[in-house]
Amino acid sequence: MATEKMEFQTEVRDMLNLMIHSLYSNKEIFLRELVSNAADALDKRRFLSLSDASLLPVGTQLKIDISVNKEGKRLVIEDNGIGMNKDDLINCLGTIARSGTKNFIKNLKEGDKGSVDLIGQFGVGFYSVFMVAKKVEVLTLKAGETQGYLWSSDGTGEFEISEAPRTDVGTKITLYLKDGEEDEDWTSEWKVKDIVQKYSGFVSYGIYFHPEPTKNDKGELETKEPQRLNDKTALWRQSEKEITPEQYKEFYNVIGHEADEPAAWSHSHAEGSQEFWSLVYIPSKAPFNIWHNDALHGLKLYVKKVFIMDDCKELLPPWLRFVRGVVDSEDLPLNVSREILQSNKIITNIRKHVIKKVLDTLQNMADKLKEGFYMNWEHLDELKKLLRFESTKTEGDALVSLDEYVKRMPEGQKEIYYLIGDKNAVKSNPMLEAFKAKGYEVLLMSDGIDEFMMNSLLEFGDKKFHDIARGDVDFEKTEDEKKAEEENKGIFKGLCENLQKLLDEDIKEVRVSSRLKDSPCCLVTSEDAMSAQMERMMKAMGQKNLPKSKRILEINPTHPICEMLKKKAEANEDLGDWPKALYGQALLAEGSPLPNPAEYVAAITKLLTASVK
Ligand code: ADP
Repeated sequence: MATEKMEFQTEVRDMLNLMIHSLYSNKEIFLRELVSNAADALDKRRFLSLSDASLLPVGTQLKIDISVNKEGKRLVIEDNGIGMNKDDLINCLGTIARSGTKNFIKNLKEGDKGSVDLIGQFGVGFYSVFMVAKKVEVLTLKAGETQGYLWSSDGTGEFEISEAPRTDVGTKITLYLKDGEEDEDWTSEWKVKDIVQKYSGFVSYGIYFHPEPTKNDKGELETKEPQRLNDKTALWRQSEKEITPEQYKEFYNVIGHEADEPAAWSHSHAEGSQEFWSLVYIPSKAPFNIWHNDALHGLKLYVKKVFIMDDCKELLPPWLRFVRGVVDSEDLPLNVSREILQSNKIITNIRKHVIKKVLDTLQNMADKLKEGFYMNWEHLDELKKLLRFESTKTEGDALVSLDEYVKRMPEGQKEIYYLIGDKNAVKSNPMLEAFKAKGYEVLLMSDGIDEFMMNSLLEFGDKKFHDIARGDVDFEKTEDEKKAEEENKGIFKGLCENLQKLLDEDIKEVRVSSRLKDSPCCLVTSEDAMSAQMERMMKAMGQKNLPKSKRILEINPTHPICEMLKKKAEANEDLGDWPKALYGQALLAEGSPLPNPAEYVAAITKLLTASVK
């Protein structure tokens, strides 16, 4: 067969053009792409040999070899994987078949965004070699076939394919590196090693670096032993049963860059619609740089054992950023970027799972602490010190630590107040009114897990945590306040009883509130009942047959509506639509859904209509 010239698909041309002129600074990813293509090819050969043993002769070591030629400015990466025949070469290295790349092209066409960003966002597999190479040759023989082929291109409009003698199954890719990239010498031994170790350290097949032969004293060329670059096992992919605690601890030192022992860890493998592995560690000490976001290692994200990024913020909420470890997804594309991660369902799912694992682990630690086993109290305090919360006194993205909170507690405040609720509603919950008026700061929480966490925290130093949506308000009251409260109980007794009768189905008790200032009413939870937030969560998790937990309705004795209703009750008048309207308002204010929106709207409409008559 003579050499055949073929044109790249238009989209490929567009992209190659971009690669060739790329200013993208993270060019090293080309090696990650080549190594992972090689590892995929090795997987494929191994897999196919299960049904056709002749594809993999006994004793064949599946591996990846990398060699360099400094003077000739060449970088060679070779695998003995599945290889490609002529059709494969045309289809795989001439057209665009992959979804990641399709998106890339789509953005490229629509885009007025810089091309530099786009490369980082999508990564572009094999074609990324043209960021560093002026010419690329692919010499390959497909397993089970006898004819080898040579594909070559300079990355402009065309590529060439010719038959070529090759006896070894697999693919050898030679990059003829661009001139004039002095600061980026891709033939440098340490650089190649560095990149391979960074991205491909956990790849299952051996990756070997073949140092260039050097001349000895006699002027003879001396070859050197190849060096294996990846010697780490992806511990997280092994079964928990096979791993000793020592191995877990050792792995923590590798992955967490820590010298000491982890306090605890949780290892899991999820299968089903998505497959992923997670191995998360709770450090035993707060890292000194915990508040410097950039310096953190956090969770590392891998896709099919290939390193994607450090400190993957999308996998954990900020308050859990002290956690170390690894997540490895089988389903994400290699080309995944931070932007894609932010709205990715797979990530959301993994995140939920990981948070749960971390909290279970913390819970477990806390339980152990309580029982006085293993750990000491000091440790839990360390963890508590790491917590940061929004509060009634924080603004924007600012968060408050428990230390700070306690420091700025006004005189008279004895406990640490918190409120858990719906993200959008918690800040304006009427229950906060009296606390704000008193100058007491209330920690605001809306993460689904906060409820569990707070259940195990109990206290910080000598200060107890107090859920302000629960039970009675017990902050210091002046003699006058106490007196007024007692009087109000008597004055509003009739109204309370009346409301209780009308709302009995939903409400356990109606009582006079001392926590409201501007709102007419709010709902609180009795000490022993399930909180509204927990109830919403359980429902969201599909728990249908929850026992109905009735809440307490508190009314504001100083509010004109309550005043008016009190008079009506005293005069034995019908309270009309007011009870339903008030109950609905209380639910809405805390972000709970209305059990019967139509009924609420009807009640409100009637009251509004009456006000304009
Ligand atoms: P991706 O790996 O995301 O599919 P690439 O552009 O990196 O995209 O590669 C395109 C295709 O070329 C691969 O899917 C594979 O079929 C083929 N290919 C690339 N490198 C090799 C290799 N070393 N051995 C065998 N096939 C390869």
